[in-house]
Amino acid sequence: MSSEASSKVQARHLSRNAYLYVRQSTLRQVFENTESTKRQYALQQRAIALGWHVEQVVVIDSDLGRSGASAVDREGFQRLVTEVGLGRAGIVMGLEVSRLARNSTDWHRLLEICALADTLILDEDGVYDPAHFNDRLLLGLKGTMSEAELHVLKARLRGGILNKARRGELEVRMPIGFVHDPQGRVRLDPDLRIQDSVRQLLSTFERTGSASATVKAFREQGLMFPRHALKGPRHGEILWSELTHSRTLFVLHNPTYAGAFTFGRTRQRKLPDGSTINKHLPQSEWTTLIRDAHEGYLSWEQYEQNLQRLRDNAKSYGEERERGAPREGPALLQGLAICAACGARMTVRYHQWSKQTRPIYICQKMGIETSGPICQSISGASLDQAVGELLVGMVTPMTLELALQVQKELESRSAEHDAMRHQEVERARYECDLARRRYMQVDPDNRLVADSLEAEWNEKLRAHGQANERYQKQRDKDAAGITDKQRASIISLAKDFPRLWKDPRTPHRERKRMARLLITDVTLLKGSEITAQIRFNGGTTQTLHLELPKSAWQIRQTSPVVVARLDKLLNEFTDGEAARELNATGLRSGQGLAFSLEIVRGVRRYYHLDSRYKRLRARGLLTLAEVAKRLDVQPDTIKHWRRAGLLQAHRFNDRGQCLYEHPSADAPVKHRHQGKMRALAAATQANSNRPNQ
Ligand SMILES: [Zn+2]
Repeated sequence: MSSEASSKVQARHLSRNAYLYVRQSTLRQVFENTESTKRQYALQQRAIALGWHVEQVVVIDSDLGRSGASAVDREGFQRLVTEVGLGRAGIVMGLEVSRLARNSTDWHRLLEICALADTLILDEDGVYDPAHFNDRLLLGLKGTMSEAELHVLKARLRGGILNKARRGELEVRMPIGFVHDPQGRVRLDPDLRIQDSVRQLLSTFERTGSASATVKAFREQGLMFPRHALKGPRHGEILWSELTHSRTLFVLHNPTYAGAFTFGRTRQRKLPDGSTINKHLPQSEWTTLIRDAHEGYLSWEQYEQNLQRLRDNAKSYGEERERGAPREGPALLQGLAICAACGARMTVRYHQWSKQTRPIYICQKMGIETSGPICQSISGASLDQAVGELLVGMVTPMTLELALQVQKELESRSAEHDAMRHQEVERARYECDLARRRYMQVDPDNRLVADSLEAEWNEKLRAHGQANERYQKQRDKDAAGITDKQRASIISLAKDFPRLWKDPRTPHRERKRMARLLITDVTLLKGSEITAQIRFNGGTTQTLHLELPKSAWQIRQTSPVVVARLDKLLNEFTDGEAARELNATGLRSGQGLAFSLEIVRGVRRYYHLDSRYKRLRARGLLTLAEVAKRLDVQPDTIKHWRRAGLLQAHRFNDRGQCLYEHPSADAPVKHRHQGKMRALAAATQANSNRPNQ
């Protein structure tokens, strides 16, 4: 021990404890790097040499086997910092002290606290007093170097991995169904039972179109799915268990099954509390994607199709997408309607119209959450009717016959399933035999081993029994199938369906229940028309296009026939006369009323039809004042002449007002105003030479 070192150690240090911090990053290091552990404990001796008593040396080794990238979950390191902070530590010891903390921030904090608490630091190189500038600089440098070293190490490792990955040569752990052959190439697992299971999963998904339906099918068929045991005493073994939803999604999402090599599909991100989360990256951001890198279970196209189907399903199965139970009220699609604009489930609101309750489907989720306007609302009356008609059309004896045929085919496939299930029983029996042989071979005097082997044998026997029981149960279930009698009753139901549906005595609730038996959901979109995509429980979809329902005023609109007829009538008749003419032909207004002068006037104005007055003026007819002026007489005289038939006039309204035709030259004039009439005729002749009079 150098004199310099001993000069730093003072009585005030010796009166406090010496803390030895022992750490190995991973459990593997703990086992394999015992040398380093030995070195760390040797420091204990140095502390004693410097003057501490054995009982003063506190060893903190609770972080053995923890990776040291951050102090957050390293309890031991935190304890060390606390002890130093409380002034209980005279010296802190560690092998390459800078590695006490593998993160510069942690390290500098410790130095700071050591300086404040007057605590020394000891490593294999010597004793440091963080309160001294030089020592502190050195220690800080050591910490920075250590962090840099870690960084370089990581970068080098990651670089190597990335390079290999880019070439597709990186050996990554293969998902179930694949193995590496001795040359390191990827092969399908030679265990046919595993291969069959993967194929079964993929084909079931293709048939049912949903991951949960696939899980359900596996459950119903009593099929198991394999997985690798990744930890625990059975590490590396294949375990068979019931298929789960997440496992199904894993297989469907994993491009390895399409024969592709990929790397960097996820990115890890550290959270402030020290935990990490995995984020799935979009395909465009994967580090490596090499298609057809090895054999697979499906084509790349099929893989992408599956993903698309999952995405489609997600749209209709996402949060808050549980379909509601049928409730009272006539809305057929209550609980089934989904908004195509935002993907939320639509609710129903009822309103009264002509003593009828009519449903409106409303998407108001965003409206509620953001107090914004509702997303869309669709009147339900005609929609419900159209969907009802579609159902009646679909449930025919013929379609049911078809469905029964499919069922029959599925039954015939059960032989295949039976074989797969039998393999499971065989395997259980084999394991049972193995356990029995092991037990038989052991020396009975070796009680400990014999007992454990006996227990294992018993366990395997029980597993075999269970497998066999499951197998028999499923076999009986398959054998049952559908009897001819059941078949006949199903067909007869199809004949009854339209009658039942249309029967007004059938309660709404029953009709809705029938709809639910057939329909999974209906996605609605209101644009220039209403588009309704109906997804049936069998997986098929059908799209309906409906006209937008008419609004109240549109419904009360005058029919175009009436408008056209009125247009013609106004050439000959006044508004009131036209009303009588229309009524005579049996036409009615938009509200179903007989026409009146007011209604005709309203329609005429609404459709911008020219008034009778305008029409007559367009034909060149003159007003009373104009005729009077032209003939240079009083207006009353003109009226008198009209009544006498000397002037031609046409009524333009129902108050008897008229417009006058130009006085004709050769009209017989028998009156005392004969001279004036002649003058009029001459004036008219002169006028007629002018264009557009
Ligand atoms: Zn919406």
